[in-house]
Amino acid sequence: MNPNENQVCTICEKPITNPLCIHCLEKEVKEWVSDFNPELMDKIEEITELMPENMSDVRCIKCKRAMSICAHCYIKEILREIQLNNPEVIGDFIRTFDFDLVFSLVKLQERIRELITKKDKLVV
Ligand SMILES: [Zn+2]
Ligand SMILES: [Zn+2]
Repeated sequence: MNPNENQVCTICEKPITNPLCIHCLEKEVKEWVSDFNPELMDKIEEITELMPENMSDVRCIKCKRAMSICAHCYIKEILREIQLNNPEVIGDFIRTFDFDLVFSLVKLQERIRELITKKDKLVV
């Protein structure tokens, strides 16, 4: 049995690398669509409810809830809905919810913090 089996997304079966759960994402996305199409907020709730909730060993970095769907698969579903209703904002949506970018920034900050800690040790 693959030891990582419990850390993959139920939909794409890839390891969950950006651990932000669909409930935390839902909050962000709903806030974002409320500016231009509040009716989409209900639709987004429906999408979240349809997502399978098989608990994995991966926990959301924000709320610590067990995750089963990766951010990419969830956002892809939302993207489809926005494309149907408000195709004019698709570019903005992708820019706002570019998780690879957000996560590489978080990793960069960690690396800088690591380097600073090392430097402190050298000085002492
Ligand atoms: Zn996935
Ligand atoms: Zn969460």
